[in-house]
This record gives sequence, structure tokens and C-alpha cells, in this order.
Amino acid sequence: MPKNKRIAVLGAGGLGACLALELAQRGYQVTLFEAHSEAVRKASFVNEGKIHLGFIYAMDRDFHTSQQMIIGAVHFMDYLKRWISIEAEEVISTPFHYCIHKGSLASGDQLEPHYAQCAQVFGEVSRRFDKKYLGLFDKVYTERLPKSKIETIVNPEYFEDVFLTSEYAVEPRAVAEQLRKSLGQEAAIQLLTGAWVKAVVRREGRLEVRFDQNGLEHRDSFDEVVNCTWNSLLAIDQTLGIEPLHGSWSFRYKFGNKILIPFEASDFPSCTMVQGPFGDSVNFRDRGGFFSWYPIGRTGWSEERLPPDWDGTYSPEYREEIFQASFEQLRHRVPALRSLSFPAESVDPAGGVIFALGNTDVEDADSKLHTRHEVGIRSFDGYHTVNTGKYTLIPYLAVKTADRLEGIS
Ligand SMILES: Cc1cc2nc3c(=O)[nH]c(=O)nc-3n(C[C@H](O)[C@H](O)[C@H](O)COP(=O)(O)OP(=O)(O)OC[C@H]3O[C@@H](n4cnc5c(N)ncnc54)[C@H](O)[C@@H]3O)c2cc1C
Repeated sequence: MPKNKRIAVLGAGGLGACLALELAQRGYQVTLFEAHSEAVRKASFVNEGKIHLGFIYAMDRDFHTSQQMIIGAVHFMDYLKRWISIEAEEVISTPFHYCIHKGSLASGDQLEPHYAQCAQVFGEVSRRFDKKYLGLFDKVYTERLPKSKIETIVNPEYFEDVFLTSEYAVEPRAVAEQLRKSLGQEAAIQLLTGAWVKAVVRREGRLEVRFDQNGLEHRDSFDEVVNCTWNSLLAIDQTLGIEPLHGSWSFRYKFGNKILIPFEASDFPSCTMVQGPFGDSVNFRDRGGFFSWYPIGRTGWSEERLPPDWDGTYSPEYREEIFQASFEQLRHRVPALRSLSFPAESVDPAGGVIFALGNTDVEDADSKLHTRHEVGIRSFDGYHTVNTGKYTLIPYLAVKTADRLEGIS
């Protein structure tokens, strides 16, 4: 691709930021459009940061989603280091326990072989790409705890089984901060903040981006446009007549409450409660904790092409209520949380949008929400639309998308 091509990246979230940085490193000038007043403040900022090894995708019985996550996971840290300065040891959580909740869609006996398959496929993928998980581990595992040990992690009244795993989360706010810094230092990237993209229109062989900024409508033409807007993905695609891959999709709003004070690794365990509509506690040690309880924290649901602006409508009082009610549920289940003390002002009851194909919720064993493999890049003569699928896939997809623009993949 000629280096003087004009490239627009729509959405400076995790994917848009990584893609713009990758293109700049390859010698291109990029215009990066962002609706918010700052880059990387939405889903890629508020999410849990779990770098998936496929364990949670046990309900996708074809294993496609787990395989996809493992590929993303082995590339995550290695590729991120192309654009930011980051040391995995400083930003990872404590390892996750997979806690099989009563009423789970699958039992411990059913999940154990799936976990073993994830570990085996991880070995193959890690060798194929010559990359380690988070740049640290060339083997991953799960270990089923004896029944007598369940109560050292969670309240056995609620759980059938617990597996200790070697899956981790990467604290997304630390990554976001570094991405913003790199964007600010990269002269080849023009970041337009407060710029709401409304449409992309084909005009005289080029792609015209129409956007609102400072109360005025603007138009600018490009040779290549990449839509990385996540919650506006379908609405912007539609302006070019591009339909979603499937007839059904959903946007959910989910709270990812944070407590922003340092914790000791021993203060509480990192837990993912499976399989179904349960919750998570994540101990990021110096970087605080993440807490979600799905039945309370999944507050928004939309099957429109453009979901409502939930962030703009939820009041601080409502957010506080959701945090309190979610944390209460977690306290029943994770005894260590009962004695956790923290000042009220350290709580950030933030949340974000999750876009997925499928329109039944996670308690449905056959819901498409249990799959995330039909994601990635779709290209239409200079216009590319990228469904990130998961945070785990961002660095891998950013490089893949840059390759696509250069005609490599
Ligand atoms: C609570 C929660 C927990 C999650 N946990 C995990 C997890 O543990 N692991 C995992 O792998 N994934 C997780 N996810 C999913 C993950 O966060 C997303 O898949 C990923 O962050 C999406 O990245 P993105 O760059 O595509 O979107 P975003 O980070 O949302 O970026 C999109 C950007 O586009 C901008 N934008 C939107 N519309 C427009 C417009 N019209 N014009 C201009 N700009 C626009 C937005 O402001 C935003 O900055 C979670 C999500 C949530 C909400």
C-alpha cells in the first residue's frame, strides 16, 4: 500500500489505538476519530482484563472460541509491547480460581476435560507461534481442588467445585494509560477527540467520513477506513449498506466495579464463577480489585443497531446502588471479601458495553453469547469493519488488520 494513502481509524478504544500505532510504525499517517474526550475510556478501560485461555467458553462445544482465545492470548503481551512500555509481572492479577456455582450449566466433571483440552491446545499454539502466555508461561494448567479445600476459597454453600488455574487478567487501566501516552507521542497519528462519526459514504472512488465535532458537521475523504467503534459498529456499517454477519445480535451494559486501593495477594482470591450468569472478583494487588455480579450488574440490553448511551444516563446514585448490591452478593460467596475494608471514595462503579452476536442471555446453554469466534475483520473495497470480540484479541487483531490493509492477509 502506498505510504501516502489517507487512512481513517474510527474509534480510539483498545483496538483503534493499537491499530493506529501499528500503522504509524509501518510508516502511514493515520487520522483517529474518537467520540469521547479521551482515547481508551470505554470497554477497553472498564473491562476485567482477563486474558482468556478458553476455559470459560466450554459451552462452545466445537472448541472454536477457545482456540480463538488461545491464539489471542499468546499474542497479547508480545504484540502490546510493540506499542507500549509494559512489564507483565507488574500488571497481572493473582491467578483465577474457576468456581463451579450450584445451578451451573455444566458440572465440574463435564468441565474438567474441557479445561484439559484448553491446556493441551495452548501447548500446541504456544509452540506454533513460539510465544508464551503473557510472555511468561509456556504451560498452562487447571487443578481441581479437593472438596475439603473449597472452603479456603469460596463458601461451599454456593459452589460444587473449585479449579485453580493459571489464567490471569491484565489490569486494563494500566494498559489504557500507556496507550494514551504512546498516541500522544506519535506524530503520524492525528487524534480527533469529541468527534462522533455518523456515516461513511462512497464518493468519487474514495470514502467520506461524516462526523460531528464541536456542534458542527464535518466531512473528510480517505482511501482506507477502519471501523473500530464497537458500540457504533453496526450503525456505521449500515450507512454503507453492510449487514451484520448474523440476523441477531445484542449489546449489553455490564458493570465492572473497581476498588482503587492497593491489596495484598492474600486479601481475597481472584474467582470466576461459572457456568452461567454469575460473577467475578479479581485481585490486581497494587492496582486494586474488580468486582462484578452478572444478575445485578448486567443492567442494559439492546437489540437495536445503536445501543442507548447508558454511560450518559446512569446517575452516580444508581451506579453506587449497583456496586453495593453486587458486592453484597460476592461477599456471601467469597468469605475473604467480608473483612475487606476500603474507603467509599476508592470505589469506581464503572461499566461498559459488550457487543455479541446472538440475542439470548448467558443462562441459555445454546446462546450465541457463549461463542466469540465469528469475530475479526470484514473488508469491503477499502472499508474494513472489525468486531474485536474480546479484549484478549485486541493486539492480535490490530496486527491482522494492519496486514489486511497492506494486502498481506
Ligand atoms: C464489564 C466488562 C468486562 C469485560 N471483561 C472482559 C475480559 O475479562 N476479557 C476480555 O477479553 N474481554 C472482556 N470484555 C470485552 C472487552 O472489553 C471488549 O471486547 C473490548 O474492550 C472492545 O474493544 P474495542 O476497542 O473494540 O472497543 P472500545 O474499547 O469500546 O473502543 C471503541 C471506541 O470507539 C469510540 N466510539 C464509539 N462510537 C463512536 C462513533 N460513532 N464515533 C467515534 N468514536 C466512537 C468509543 O468512544 C470507544 O473509545 C469486557 C467488557 C466489559 C464491558
